[in-house]
Amino acid sequence: MTIAVFGSINMDVTAYMPRLPEPGETLHGAEYKLGLGGKGANQAVAARKLGSDVRFICRLGPDDFAKPAARELSSYGVDLGLAATDTAGATGLAIINVGQNGENYISLIGGSNLRMDESDVERGRAALEQAKVLLVQLEVPLAAALRAGAIVRAHGGLVILDPAPAPEKGLPAGVLGQVDIVTPNEKETALLLGWQPSTPQDALRAAQELRSKGVGTAIVKLGAKGLAVAAPGAEAIIPPFKVTAIDTVAAGDSFNGGLAHALERGLPILEAARFAAACGALSTTKKGAAAAAPTRAEVEALLASA
Ligand code: ADP
Repeated sequence: MTIAVFGSINMDVTAYMPRLPEPGETLHGAEYKLGLGGKGANQAVAARKLGSDVRFICRLGPDDFAKPAARELSSYGVDLGLAATDTAGATGLAIINVGQNGENYISLIGGSNLRMDESDVERGRAALEQAKVLLVQLEVPLAAALRAGAIVRAHGGLVILDPAPAPEKGLPAGVLGQVDIVTPNEKETALLLGWQPSTPQDALRAAQELRSKGVGTAIVKLGAKGLAVAAPGAEAIIPPFKVTAIDTVAAGDSFNGGLAHALERGLPILEAARFAAACGALSTTKKGAAAAAPTRAEVEALLASA
């Protein structure tokens, strides 16, 4: 049993700043980090660090950033057999500023990620047919991601859509009916529903509303305020785990990698969401994107102490 990921891979250049700079301002920071990122890669690494067998379908560019990205990916044990090298688009690049309290803003140049298409789906077909869970996000073209999802579902697997980065015009009609689980944060929920949840009760109402729009299970995430789940026959508000956050970059990716891992192991949805919430919380206690995802031992220690 495996987890498949059809998604983006980036190099992240992250500046750790005393606060976020204002437009037009030059601000000195103490430190920067160069590391693997991209929602697809982050989620692949997050599931792999928990012990899952992960097949990652992605595109790198023909440029120098491809090498450190691929090296870091394989250092976590994520197989590179389904990564292709694009002839034209550069390797995806994210320029990230992180402020003192862990808040961030991100400039993203999608490059080769934005050129993923049917040929990537075909290259990954065998992995898609065998996957118990597929993770997709919106940093690659949605049509290709949905094609990959259709293969997984036709073979009895589950498709988890992280609708991030937030789709400015919402999602096209019918998309929610083509996936099994959707996991928006509060801003993404606002773009999907037209209103933004701010309390856990709101998040539950939003998850119910997403279900009425065609998705089987909706998980609405509120960062440090926790999350709500609405699934067939199961609903819950899951309070946040108490941690000291220093960098919230990729908390959602650790969450999704953790969710896929827990569902692959056969956990029921509410337990899987709690496991994933622990993964998201732990990832905020470390710097970086893929690098910040926790191990299974770390997650189990947090679950046992809560
Ligand atoms: P995204 O990165 O998609 O915006 P969130 O920031 O909502 O996602 O984080 C995903 C999940 O990780 C949250 O729902 C929560 O369970 C957990 N999490 C994130 N930030 C914190 C935090 N500061 N304290 C505790 N848990 C957190």
